[in-house]
Amino acid sequence: MLEKLFEIISPDICVVCKNQGKCLCDNCMPKVLIYKKPACVFCNELNDTGKTCNRCYKKHPIRTAKISFRYEGALKELIWAMKYENKRSHARYFAGLLMSQPGIVCFVPSDGTARRKRGYDQAEILANNYAKLHKLEFKKLLLRQTHSRQVGKNRAERLKNTKGNFVVAQNVKGLDLLLVDDVITTGATISECASVLKAAGAKSVTALAIAKA
Ligand SMILES: [Zn+2]
Ligand SMILES: [Zn+2]
Repeated sequence: MLEKLFEIISPDICVVCKNQGKCLCDNCMPKVLIYKKPACVFCNELNDTGKTCNRCYKKHPIRTAKISFRYEGALKELIWAMKYENKRSHARYFAGLLMSQPGIVCFVPSDGTARRKRGYDQAEILANNYAKLHKLEFKKLLLRQTHSRQVGKNRAERLKNTKGNFVVAQNVKGLDLLLVDDVITTGATISECASVLKAAGAKSVTALAIAKA
């Protein structure tokens, strides 16, 4: 409610041409966003579908990753603002640019400290809006673990403590899941999320992201 009101007072401005309306207008969008060629998300080997290659699939249980754009230029700026400058509207904008893909929609929860500072989780907004747009079911399946303090622990305990950042919060048995994140970097985080989801009984995990760094 307040958020909507704020957006009426302060509407989005195109990051390129400064026209009012969207954070990137329909005119500028095709000029500044660079589509990403489909590839294995873990080793970047090109293919036609974004499928994870057989070698990487052995280590990372993500069947396919659908990534819209290359993480460059104006897109970086827009994503930065979405994460750190309270621009939730950017998450709604990008939800419309994620590739269409069936499945039950879930998301990679953002890091706790950063999220508390902002008061929202951009990946959640992105996933939730994507689900609404495509009339798909949205579920909050993953939770980030808060780790106990590292002080006074030996190395083995510290290592143990850094393992397992995510836990599955609901029953996922037999589900085909779409795991949404804003930007994928190395793929280690989505891989970890997919591993816990698969271990909890999920049938398949497909990753969906705006960009790959
Ligand atoms: Zn523009
Ligand atoms: Zn690969």
